[in-house]
Order: sequence, then structure tokens, then C-alpha cells
Amino acid sequence: MKVTIIGCSGSFPGPDSPASCYLLEAANFRLLLDFGAGALGALQRHIGLYDVDAICLSHLHADHCLDMCAYHVARTYGPDAPYPRVPVHAPGDAPHRLAAAYGMPDEPGMETAFDFTPLRPGTFEVGPFTVTAGLVNHPVEAYGFRVSYGGRSVAYSGDTGESAELVRLAEDADLLLCEASFVDRPDLPADLHLSGRQAAEHAAKARVGRLVLTHLVPWHDQSRILDDASRGGYGGPIELARSGAVYELD
Ligand SMILES: [Zn+2]
Ligand SMILES: [Zn+2]
Repeated sequence: MKVTIIGCSGSFPGPDSPASCYLLEAANFRLLLDFGAGALGALQRHIGLYDVDAICLSHLHADHCLDMCAYHVARTYGPDAPYPRVPVHAPGDAPHRLAAAYGMPDEPGMETAFDFTPLRPGTFEVGPFTVTAGLVNHPVEAYGFRVSYGGRSVAYSGDTGESAELVRLAEDADLLLCEASFVDRPDLPADLHLSGRQAAEHAAKARVGRLVLTHLVPWHDQSRILDDASRGGYGGPIELARSGAVYELD
């Protein structure tokens, strides 16, 4: 399995990265986790415009799903349209919310480009991947994911505050893509986001092979986030996510 970070900027795009989007490839199949603002541009540096085989959306905050609008245009009006509809696993309100974001009626909505399946906690197959979705702690319906193929696993936090479910999803994963939106401080709000220290604590509890800190908010000094993570009791490798970074898990 090959993991490419397309977008790792938290809450809005930064100068060097789109908002959240991760490309997972195995057995000639390409799965996106989230499709945040600006991601469709950077994605085309790595795969063709029409090469996305499936999409999972962690939640419906704009920084995780708004480029679905842009991709709807590409697949609905491109030169060889109609293109096959892309399976999308997303919170149940996604067809309505994305149609509203685009400015189109709910019927037919984005059905020309996408085939929506409502997410629920549990395990399902997406192409060659086994995907487990679990509810995490954020102000809206929000999922973390574990994606496995060929004995390797990557876990992705989505957006969450401290979460036992995230530890469960990430248990013994080769790679944890964990949000670290906050600079650490004593009075962090619950059920919203994590600091680097909290991300590392989740990585330690789950005994993951590698921790990549992501959802990095541009207004922070990212060296602080990395420094916070070094105090989370995790002994494995820790690094900051970077748009274009590739992790080969074999
Ligand atoms: Zn976010
Ligand atoms: Zn969010």
C-alpha cells in the first residue's frame, strides 16, 4: 500500500498544502480519504484527473469535503463525460450538504458524478482495501478510519478530540495520520481537536509503527507541534505531514 499526503493543512489551505486529503493506492486502485479545499489541484501531480476509484469523507466540515464540488464539475462536464460514478462513503447528509455547497437542487444533486453510501461505524470493503470506520469526538458526525491491505494498515484520525475509538482504530497500525491542530496547553477543549502531545499519546497507546502529525493549522509554528509530540510518551518515529510526502507500506 502506498500513502501519499495530498493535503495536510488544518481548517483551511496553507501556502504549501491544500486542506485535508490523503491518497491510498494498492492493486491499481486509488482511494481518497477526505477531499478538502484545494486538494483536487495537488492530486493531479500524483494521479490522473479521472483516476480516483473511491472516496471516504471523515466528516462534512468544509476543510474535509469542499473539493467534492470541484470534482463533480470535472466528472460531469469533462470531455469524455459521462464518467463512471465514484463510490463515496460519507456521513448520510453528504448528498444534501454538498449539493447546497455547490448551489444545485438535491435532485439529482451530485448523483451524476458520485454514488453515495452513508457511513456507519463498522468494517466494509472498498476495492482491495478493508476499511473500518469509527465515530470520533468532534462537534459533528465524524469518523476516523483504519484502512488495511496485504497485512499493512494505516489509521487516520479525521478531526477529533481525545478518543478511545481512535486508539482502537489505530491498534498496531503501521502508520497513524493523526491530527495535531492545537498547540498544547493545560486547558484544551474536549471533543474538538488534539495537540501534538495528545496525538503522540494516542500513538503510544495504539503501538503504531510511525506517527505523522497532520491537520496542521497555518497560524501555528509547526515546530511547536512537533516539540509537543515529543512529550507524548511515544517512542517511534514522529514527523510533520507534508503535501507530496509518500509512505510505502510493504
Ligand atoms: Zn478539519
Ligand atoms: Zn472538522
